[in-house]
Amino acid sequence: MIIARGHMVQKASCGKGQRLTTSGYFGVVFRIQGDLDWYVSTLKLRVAPQANLPCAWCDADRTVARAFLDLSSTAPWLGTVFTPPQPAPNDHPLWTVPGVSIFSVALDTMHCLHLGVYQHLLGSILYTLIYGGTLPGTIQQRLDSVWARIRTLYTTLSIATRLTNLTLNVFTDVSAPHANWPCLHGHAAETAALMRPLAPICSDLNSGSLRDQQRLRAVMCFVRFAYILQLAGMFLTLDEEHAATTAIGQGLKAVAWLSAEASARRPHPPQQA
Ligand SMILES: [Zn+2]
Repeated sequence: MIIARGHMVQKASCGKGQRLTTSGYFGVVFRIQGDLDWYVSTLKLRVAPQANLPCAWCDADRTVARAFLDLSSTAPWLGTVFTPPQPAPNDHPLWTVPGVSIFSVALDTMHCLHLGVYQHLLGSILYTLIYGGTLPGTIQQRLDSVWARIRTLYTTLSIATRLTNLTLNVFTDVSAPHANWPCLHGHAAETAALMRPLAPICSDLNSGSLRDQQRLRAVMCFVRFAYILQLAGMFLTLDEEHAATTAIGQGLKAVAWLSAEASARRPHPPQQA
């Protein structure tokens, strides 16, 4: 079977366990990788973030009982995670390849972290540094101060992928900053590359409060996670896999704490003109 971009284009004569080429090579589906649009449009998977059931691998939803935004290690939706074997999700020919199932489909850090959790975390960090916190001055002066520090750290840390500018609009709704949750609207690479400069900033401006400590912990965990992946080869060793899983788990736990703390606090942090 020959598949290009997820569509079966030719049914080959060779069968299971037989050689594909005269050189003796044969094909193995190691993983199926695509972006969320492709998973939805071609594989017909349930991965639409706006949907009531946004995940193809569990039954987390928008109810309080199985809230998919609960990132804690005791989240009720964890009890709904699918386990193998699972029936083919639909009649796409990929699922007929022996050994291929919905668990062969890989999710990537760019869509799940950089364009997901990181955008919310980094937007919230900027918000809490500039609309609250211990920096002196007006909101504009605080913004200028944070942006100046980030630009210096871009250079010090030799980070080439940079935000071109930092304005309030990049992470908050300026007309109603307390009405909508902050979210950093940047490209995936710029968002991911902002984590390292924010680590020393969150450390310097750590007031010692539980909120500031969890904020710093989340950033440090995600910085460590990126280093582990950067230093690892194509396939992680068991030790690297354990270290990566631990870092991401602890980072998400801190994000879950921050999320719960922010949700419990109404209204949002006091604004200073
Ligand atoms: Zn899920």
